[in-house]
Amino acid sequence: MNHAATHLTSSAAPTAAERVLTLVDLGSEVLRINPAQALDMATQAAQLCQEHGLARLRLPVLSLLGESQYRLGQYLEARANLNTLLSLGPDQALEARTFNLLGHVQRMLGEHRTAIQHYNQALELAHHLQDKKQEITALNGLAGTYFSLFDYQGAAELYLQSLGLAQSLGNLDAEGAALGNLGAVYLEQGELSRAQELFQKGLEICIRVGNQQREAVVRNNLGFTYYRLDAYQSSLEYSQQALQLAQKLRDRRIEASALGNLALTYFALGQYDTALELNKRALELERELHNRHTEADLLVQIGRIWLEKRNYTLAQSTLEEALQVAQSGGNRKAHTEVHLYLSEIWQHKGQFALALQQHRLYHELTTATLREQLERKTLALLIRFQAEQALQQAEIVRLRNVELVSANEALEQANREKSQLLAQLEQMVRTDPLTQIYNRRYLEEQLRHLFEQSRAEQWPLSVALIDLDHFKAINDTYSHQAGDEVLKTTAALFKEALPEVGLIARYGGEEFAIVFPRTAAAEAAAACERLRQRIETHDWSFIHPDLVVTVSIGVSDAPAAPNHEKLLMVADQYLYDAKRRRRNQVCFGS
Ligand code: GH3
Ligand code: MG
Ligand code: MG
Repeated sequence: MNHAATHLTSSAAPTAAERVLTLVDLGSEVLRINPAQALDMATQAAQLCQEHGLARLRLPVLSLLGESQYRLGQYLEARANLNTLLSLGPDQALEARTFNLLGHVQRMLGEHRTAIQHYNQALELAHHLQDKKQEITALNGLAGTYFSLFDYQGAAELYLQSLGLAQSLGNLDAEGAALGNLGAVYLEQGELSRAQELFQKGLEICIRVGNQQREAVVRNNLGFTYYRLDAYQSSLEYSQQALQLAQKLRDRRIEASALGNLALTYFALGQYDTALELNKRALELERELHNRHTEADLLVQIGRIWLEKRNYTLAQSTLEEALQVAQSGGNRKAHTEVHLYLSEIWQHKGQFALALQQHRLYHELTTATLREQLERKTLALLIRFQAEQALQQAEIVRLRNVELVSANEALEQANREKSQLLAQLEQMVRTDPLTQIYNRRYLEEQLRHLFEQSRAEQWPLSVALIDLDHFKAINDTYSHQAGDEVLKTTAALFKEALPEVGLIARYGGEEFAIVFPRTAAAEAAAACERLRQRIETHDWSFIHPDLVVTVSIGVSDAPAAPNHEKLLMVADQYLYDAKRRRRNQVCFGS
């Protein structure tokens, strides 16, 4: 887009439309280096469009708004603007671009399923328009989404397609990117020599095309790969080079990452003081970048160093800090590791009960993570399956039209079999494996729909959050297996006693949620009071003669809540009230 320059040469004052176009052009130019400024310009342009009724110009403005918000991490705002843009019916080129952007945004929001749909739409359109650049973007986006769903094979296949496309276009830069991404997939799977080979090839290309930023990233990845291969000398070399490049480019993200990699290698070499120094530098940078996720990793590493140096006091305080940061930053891996190292500290101090407790937490978190990974893998499989089935469906329709009856029948048979498998998979992805009731993801999906419906049709929608009382004590007193049995029985009792309309799910470890459509809070609370009594009066002696189980419940219909997330939050506040008022009771309100 470069129409602005010519407009500006005319001597008359620029019209509103010209000012909008200039703002969009300038904004697009600074987008990569200064997204905040781009957002500023887009906001001004949007205002001008509104004031002067420039309906058609809203399209490029919304695109710039959405992209700058995406780059600034304002994902909800970006999603809203991009959806508006799509609803205005942009031309196909802009549409393909927008589908890709929306895919990126939804990936960041964890909305994998819709991200995949949008990337697929972008892919189809870009292919049709022969817009190879957007096609590559869509392939990479899809691959990245599969990657986050732990579907490494799917990710690798798509990166390979993207690589093929880049090669056929002679687009070396995109080729280097695809090789680097493929390397990362293999690295994640522990296929280290494959990863190393791909990174080396990618590195060559980055150097050839002079993309120093990517060169730094790839060198850094190579450093980490060699570390994992126990080739510490090479690891130090590559990480060191990545560090120097990052400093030259003033890219603090890569700089911090390279420092962290160097620290890992020095730690492995037993040079704890050097490792400590490097970790502290990395920590400082990550804090400046507000990257709580990596901050937690680094604190764990520093804690480990103090542990090796037998300074248990500093080790413990660092790990406790790591725990806090890991929890608030959602870093599951660091959170898990902290408990392992805290357990080691207690062992060294001869406090075996405390060591055991920490080890148990470590074990629980590890199991939960594995379960989650499995769930995600199933979800990825389901999504791929649905896409394939849709393609097959289209083929059936086509064959029916050309009356190739027998081929059609064979395909329909295959599709029926697929449908059965699909139903099974669908059942799996929405069920909690321990209690066999719905899982949280499914409940939230349903709740989101119901919430919108309830607001549109104006009927009350209540949510109950249920938390088992002193469940930790049940685990500690009667064993973890007994705890699991309690969870299973509780779920079964709820399901049995639940009114017809209710939808129940396991919401977290020992938390359940129930959704009551067309029910106000008071009525839902009355139903919950019956559930509460059902649990309290149940005969639990088949698990243990002394066992007593009670639950606390918070219920709300929050008529003023703007979205379902807020509704859940209000119910959670009532649950908190119930806990505070000595538990085993239902609290509710609007
Ligand atoms: P409160 O009354 O305040 O809710 O006390 P609590 O002990 O229930 O509270 P807290 O949330 O601290 O403890 C919940 C415990 O539930 C921690 C965890 O060990 C346990 N837990 C979480 N998931 C599972 C599971 O799948 N099986 C078992 N057996 N225990 C679990
Ligand atoms: Mg709890
Ligand atoms: Mg509890």
